[in-house]
Amino acid sequence: MADDAVAAPKAPPPRLNPVRVPIAEEPIAERTSDFREVLHAYSKETAILEAKRCIQCRRPWCVEACPITQDAREYIRLIAVGDFDGAARVTLRENPLATCLCKVCYHYCEDACVVKKKGVPIAIRHLKRAALDYGKSDLVYVPSKPKNQRVAVVGAGPAGMQAAWELGVRGYSVTVFEQEQRYGGLMQTIPAYRMTDADVETDRARYRDLDVTWVPGTKVGVDFPVDKLLKEDGYQAVFLSIGTPTHRTLGVPGEDLEGTIPALGFLKEINLGHDVHVGKEIIVIGGGDVAMDSVRSALRKSGGGHVTLVYRRGRQEMPADPEEVHGAEQEGIRFLFQKAPLRIVGNGHVEGLVVQSIELGPPDAGGRRSPVPVPGTEETLPADTVIVAVGQKADLEGFDASLDLKLTSQGWPQGKGKGFETGVPGIFAAGGRSVVYAMGTATEAADAIDAYLSAKRGEPTGPRPDPFGGPGAFARPPGYTTPIRV
Ligand SMILES: Cc1cc2nc3c(=O)[nH]c(=O)nc-3n(C[C@H](O)[C@H](O)[C@H](O)COP(=O)(O)OP(=O)(O)OC[C@H]3O[C@@H](n4cnc5c(N)ncnc54)[C@H](O)[C@@H]3O)c2cc1C
Ligand code: SF4
Repeated sequence: MADDAVAAPKAPPPRLNPVRVPIAEEPIAERTSDFREVLHAYSKETAILEAKRCIQCRRPWCVEACPITQDAREYIRLIAVGDFDGAARVTLRENPLATCLCKVCYHYCEDACVVKKKGVPIAIRHLKRAALDYGKSDLVYVPSKPKNQRVAVVGAGPAGMQAAWELGVRGYSVTVFEQEQRYGGLMQTIPAYRMTDADVETDRARYRDLDVTWVPGTKVGVDFPVDKLLKEDGYQAVFLSIGTPTHRTLGVPGEDLEGTIPALGFLKEINLGHDVHVGKEIIVIGGGDVAMDSVRSALRKSGGGHVTLVYRRGRQEMPADPEEVHGAEQEGIRFLFQKAPLRIVGNGHVEGLVVQSIELGPPDAGGRRSPVPVPGTEETLPADTVIVAVGQKADLEGFDASLDLKLTSQGWPQGKGKGFETGVPGIFAAGGRSVVYAMGTATEAADAIDAYLSAKRGEPTGPRPDPFGGPGAFARPPGYTTPIRV
């Protein structure tokens, strides 16, 4: 620019409204006696008001932060102008589990939303719910031209369901094998006050025109070896999305006492409507989301009992979603930080938990401060029920070492290749630590499976088709670069 040139005045930055339209909740006194849904949906009017807070960023951080690149900016824009049908279509175009995610997604989009710099981010997850509640959401997915190739998906959690959808809309014939009778994977353990089995079934119903066959009650690797699918059953590729269905134990004395309950089984049994008994003095051990769901569920089951969470690190180090921690605190859960369980005591039945105080040492390789026990600080906390929520692990029974699976730091089995290929050609494996994250890995694996099978047909890999059968291909939103893996 010449020295004497006058720079054009810059457009003023868009005004951010830092205040979120409140999301109503069931009153605490009423909601803790049963499993009714806690969060209320926005009305049409309040959804439009909230959507109008979005400044429609040229570079949509919300979209980039999403592992499945859900075009939140676009559905928010449509809601702001009252087009709920359009918003539902955008949502479902790239997200076959939208009904589940609008209730339980950890909304990495909201953490990335630019409005968070000045106040409370746009309620993106809740607006997704408004799109589905008020827009035409009983849309049906349409397969593109049949590819005449079969893919077996093992595990019907979010990763398996996403892969089945990605491959189904591309015209592949997909069979999903699931060891349980119900679908949704670990989503089956999420309490009904957040989401239900009916939400999974609402999403699954939209697959009805895809060539996807669901086979429950089949444990691949045990009922038959995985390579049989490729060698004898006519499948050209296999996607393993077997997740982490097994609970981890504490490894302390007394874990076999009556009244000690693994969290996964506890939550699953409640959702199945079985008779689940807890006492009046309940301790939950852990600091993640499963622990949060356990404390709040135990409270609801206890009929006025006391629930205490025992966690060996501090509040800052808790991996649980802050919203869930807040919900638990509101409901009167007691939090005991920096206490490590040493043993569960009792005479046949749990009577207490012996804990030791912890100091937090320097950060470990993962940046978390390591717990250091303080000698001489043992104490016994009275309890009649101890729920162990210290994580899950994969069940690799029947899966051969030749697959060369990698376990992520949180224990999720994945392939090691770029597209999650395993050590066996044609077998891919992915999944992960949140619903949408698992779906993101499955999307990448499905792209790789499509490329693998296209090469087998001697064809180039095409773009992902419009899942509603429209003439255009699926297009990434403008401004979008690449998903940020957080
Ligand atoms: C209590 C709880 C609450 C949670 N809350 C949230 C939340 O609010 N938001 C969120 O985003 N995430 C949440 N999560 C995490 C989320 O559920 C998981 O990250 C997600 O389900 C992972 O999906 P996945 O498909 O990789 O694995 P999984 O969900 O574990 O699914 C794997 C599936 O494979 C099946 N399977 C395993 N082995 C075989 C086999 N050999 N043959 C056939 N089938 C097999 C399993 O039965 C299961 O159905 C929660 C998890 C738990 C436990
Ligand atoms: S980052 Fe926030 S303000 Fe920007 S487009 Fe996304 S939701 Fe709207």
